[in-house]
Amino acid sequence: MNIVRVALDLPLPRLFDYLAPDSDESDIGRRVTVPFGTGSRTGVIIELATASEQPDAKLKAVTSILRDMPALPAEWLALCEFCARYYQTPLGEVTSFALPPMLRRGKLPRIKKVKEIAVACPRSGIPGTQSAPAPSARDTVPGAGAGDITSETVPQPALPQLMAAQQAAVAAIFDTAGFHAMLLHGVTGSGKTEVYLRAIDAVLAKGGQALMLVPEIALTSQLEGRVAARFPGAHIVCANSGMADAARARGFIEALSGRAEIVLGTRLAVFMPLPRLQLIIVDEEHDASFKQQDGLRYSARDVAVWRAHQLNIPIVLGSATPSLETFHHASTGRYRLLELPERAVAEAMPVVRIVDTRREKLQEGLSAALLAGLQQRLDRGEQSLVFLNRRGYAPVLACPPCGWISRCQRCAANLVLHLADQRLRCHHCGFEALIPRACPDCGNVDLLPFGRGTQRLETMLAERFPEARVLRIDRDSASTPKKWQALLATIHAGEADILVGTQMLAKGHDFPLLTLVGAVGADAALFAADFRAPERLFAQLMQVGGRSGRADLPGEVLIQTEYPDHPLYRALVDHDYVRFARSQLDERRIAGFPPFSFQAMLRAEARTMEQSLAFLAAARNAAEALADGVTLYDPVPMRMQRLMTLERGQLLVESLSRPALQAFLAKWMEQLYALKMPSGLRWHLDVDPLEF
Ligand code: ADP
Ligand code: ZN
Ligand code: ZN
Repeated sequence: MNIVRVALDLPLPRLFDYLAPDSDESDIGRRVTVPFGTGSRTGVIIELATASEQPDAKLKAVTSILRDMPALPAEWLALCEFCARYYQTPLGEVTSFALPPMLRRGKLPRIKKVKEIAVACPRSGIPGTQSAPAPSARDTVPGAGAGDITSETVPQPALPQLMAAQQAAVAAIFDTAGFHAMLLHGVTGSGKTEVYLRAIDAVLAKGGQALMLVPEIALTSQLEGRVAARFPGAHIVCANSGMADAARARGFIEALSGRAEIVLGTRLAVFMPLPRLQLIIVDEEHDASFKQQDGLRYSARDVAVWRAHQLNIPIVLGSATPSLETFHHASTGRYRLLELPERAVAEAMPVVRIVDTRREKLQEGLSAALLAGLQQRLDRGEQSLVFLNRRGYAPVLACPPCGWISRCQRCAANLVLHLADQRLRCHHCGFEALIPRACPDCGNVDLLPFGRGTQRLETMLAERFPEARVLRIDRDSASTPKKWQALLATIHAGEADILVGTQMLAKGHDFPLLTLVGAVGADAALFAADFRAPERLFAQLMQVGGRSGRADLPGEVLIQTEYPDHPLYRALVDHDYVRFARSQLDERRIAGFPPFSFQAMLRAEARTMEQSLAFLAAARNAAEALADGVTLYDPVPMRMQRLMTLERGQLLVESLSRPALQAFLAKWMEQLYALKMPSGLRWHLDVDPLEF
């Protein structure tokens, strides 16, 4: 009997057996449509079998095996299986997630006729044939020995002569065969991207495919442009969630069929099938967007490392402010540390100054020093940026006489005042209301905004500097990629003098006219309950500071704080990431936090907190007998207790050993699936949670 075992997108940790008389080995990894319940579903064939645990009479036959595209390779299935195991998610949910939506639904995009790809090298003009299975128009310069670039090998617009540290980094990527993970550490402008490009070049020369992951930001286009310019004849495929269905599916098939040579994408691109993958790059590896916060809660960076290991290929993790997990691996020798200690172009690091605001009366939150700095830049025709990581006008609207404040009815959160479009808005669930004319409780008409967001800062700066063109950049003003591009164009054209922005601005963009960055409201993160808050703050301030300055004009960063001696700020002044990282790691070691321990979080949400906590208590009881080498904490309400009217609780599980934690979780999950739950309760497990 020919039986196929199919992974279906269902919250059940098992495969489903179907009869498939005409199936054979070559169908493993193919999509298949099957009858399910009263309808039909599309899944992926994981294995073949000759017998089923199900009684024969109950076995149904597949509707059809979709042989319209190449089968997903064993490596891809193994990757999904790893994620299913590691993140305790049913395999069918993983394979479904890993496929682009169109393929997931059993459809296929229309494939355009493949254009002949030029084999000539357009930059050098030298025609040449490629030894690569996929034709590419790569440089004639061998990337691995990138140090030996000379004007003879490049007649054309020359590639920059690599600095010694860059050369060493490129060489390190290829000097060892097989798997090795590297941390490429260097500030913005130190030439990391140039190293990636040389490495990709070397991979293309060998006929391989390269995968480059970048954070989920609307900014990938700049990098895309740079990669496309460097490899004009290469087949480059992009992958991100913002793409149209058909384009994404097409890219997936191009990768799978081996035609794509470079895949550039956000976290989901880690699931692109690449039969000749020879190099993985994760740029800005510390970025939180590599971790998905719903559904399959995977870390694309961690999955990428596993994949490189499985394929026995090198992986480069790059950052100016590596995650402490990665830095720890680099310090213990598990990853190789590649340092780029200086900026590539003759650019000084920005001067970072601390502005002590303890004894100063601020004007709308701004110090005299920052105001003077802004005025000076205006006089000189340069740009400034005021960085405040809080959008909206004010975080809350209040009625001082009676104590009313604007609360979200669905969440344990305040409604944020948005004056720009006259709304109160919940930043957690999206609830919106018009601004009340008077206090809903007492009728008082003098409602007051408390605190400060980017809109308020924008208003204040426009009043204070009437001659300045003030531009606000946050998720409200840059709500679509188009708006974002328009804002960027305005900045680049020098048509804005003072920028007010959130962390959106911190990443991946050069602003040559920008010479001053002022950071306000940063202190809050110093004492946040989340132990990762200082790490994030340091990265943000470092990144935002890195936007300023240019060759002839060093940038200046002013950090307003009431804690001028805080080691985090002191390390920023000295541009000393390593000192900061070491001190944070010392604290984490003492506290037993990651990377010195491994965590998983069970979260539950229900109509009442009682129900959520009762479920977690039962889960904890079920765990007691299994918990070998694992610490179980008490179920507690989440910090954001209520979201969308659901009351949320959490239970932290911790271990000093990842294998012990993994073994425990696998056993525990079986019990969790069997636990009784009140209707409406939902739970999920988050392995290596980033947010608490
Ligand atoms: P990062 O990715 O670390 O921010 P980039 O690779 O983008 O750094 O380099 C910053 C700038 O310096 C870019 O304009 C790049 O073209 C240039 N650059 C990189 N390496 C060199 C080099 N060896 N010589 C001259 N310019 C370089
Ligand atoms: Zn809400
Ligand atoms: Zn009132």
